[in-house]
Formats: sequence, C-alpha cells, structure tokens
Amino acid sequence: MNYLGIKPVRPRVAIFGFTGCEGCQLQLANGEEDLAEFLSAMRIARFRELSSADEEAYDIALVEGAVTRGDEEERLLEIRDRARVLVALGSCACYGGVPRLKNCFDPVEMNHEVYGCHPRESLPTRSLREIVTVDQEIPGCPVAKVEVERIIQHLIWGLPYRFPAYPVCLECKQRYILCRFEQGELCLGPLTRGGCLATCPRGGLGCWGCRGPAAEPNYGEFIAIARQRGFTLREIKERLSFFGGLEVTP
Ligand code: SF4
Ligand code: SF4
Ligand code: SF4
Repeated sequence: MNYLGIKPVRPRVAIFGFTGCEGCQLQLANGEEDLAEFLSAMRIARFRELSSADEEAYDIALVEGAVTRGDEEERLLEIRDRARVLVALGSCACYGGVPRLKNCFDPVEMNHEVYGCHPRESLPTRSLREIVTVDQEIPGCPVAKVEVERIIQHLIWGLPYRFPAYPVCLECKQRYILCRFEQGELCLGPLTRGGCLATCPRGGLGCWGCRGPAAEPNYGEFIAIARQRGFTLREIKERLSFFGGLEVTP
C-alpha cells in the first residue's frame, strides 16, 4: 500500500482474545475480497484465526474480550508492556460487554449454577481500560471490519480517528427504515453512536447500544419517552446496561 508514492512502515500486529465469543476476531477474518489487501498493510505477529505466527514482538496489539480471570489480567499487563499501541477490540474489551452481565449475580451462586461441583476461577468482569491504559477503543458487537481497517490505517499514518458523533437514528432515517420505537419496541438508537449503518433496525430489531454513547446522549429525555410508551424502569435499565457502554442512572 502506497500513499503519494511513500511506502509506509508495516507495523507488526498481534491479536489476542480474552473472555468473549471471538466474533470480533472472526469479523476481521471475514470478507475474502479485501482480506489480502487488509493484511498487506501489516505484518502479522499473532492472529490465531488466520496464522500460525506466534511472536512476542509487536507494535500494535488488538485485544478482544473482557478480563474475568487472574491469568488474563497478568497477560494483559504483559501485552501493555510490549505494545506501542494497545487497541480494545469490540464491546467486551471496551465496556465489559455481554460478559459484564455476570456481575449482576452472586459470584458463588453463579459459579455453582454454571460449573456445578467443579468451580472455576471467575473474577468480576472488567473492561481493558479498568486495568491498563488503552490507546484506542473500537466498540461494536461485533466490530465493523471496515471501521477496524480505517482505524488501523489511521494508526499506521499516525492520524487520530474520529467516530461518528451522531446516533444510530440518523442512519435509520437515511435508509428509510421503519422505526422500531414507533412500532412499540424498545430501541437505544437515539442514545447510541452511529457507524453500524443501523444494523439491528435494518434487520427488524431495536438497538441494544453495542457501540456506546453518541455525542451528548440525552438519557433523561429518552427514559421519559420510553416510560410514556409503557416500558418499565427495569426494562429500560436492563437494556441500557446490556453492553456496559451506556449510563444506567435513571
Ligand atoms: S464484542 Fe461481541 S462479537 Fe466481540 S467478542 Fe464480545 S461478544 Fe463476541
Ligand atoms: S428504529 Fe431506533 S434507531 Fe431507528 S429511528 Fe427508530 S429509535 Fe432511532
Ligand atoms: S443497531 Fe445498535 S446494537 Fe445494533 S449494531 Fe448498531 S449500535 Fe450495535
């Protein structure tokens, strides 16, 4: 990849996965039509979905998943020491994501419920930024591959990346999508950062807030409107807390 005839340095990129479903890593491996070009911008030091490389020297670390075990915390500290740039990949890494839901339950009871008489170590779920300094967060469940590609290009060129400030609603309106809220479904689109091209409303679902907050989200007004439309405070709170990226203070 050249820009104005200048060949950029190809950074060594390593991808790690902690507690999550590995869907964000899978997203990066998707899309064969531009995969080769995407990979040509970097040297892969570690990406177990695609490569047998397993090097401990890298410039950029993309870390997927939340931290729920002591060994994950130790490994994350080690990665932070080695990486020039540490990127949180996906909502689990950025906010705790779906794994954070377990923090709502009693840890002993939950461990027993899941593992029966073979208990496992399971710490309260934490996002990466609760443990180390994170240089760049890429939210989404899963992340949007085109956005990751754009962000990596920005990192290579040393340019800051700006996420859309507008909410998901704008992308709905641009596509003439039938509003789920108007159809009686709860939808966090008015609070949530756009950029996913309104994936869930497009598929007939309300938004669950996986991309975190848009600029200046008006939580009070959103909750008041949702209450007027018959949603209980509990339903609203559960939806707001689902990915851990939005405020839950109604
Ligand atoms: S953010 Fe979603 S897709 Fe990515 S690892 Fe977590 S659960 Fe899986
Ligand atoms: S479906 Fe949701 S995101 Fe789309 S316009 Fe309605 S409230 Fe906004
Ligand atoms: S519509 Fe909402 S939950 Fe769905 S992908 Fe977009 S931000 Fe995430």
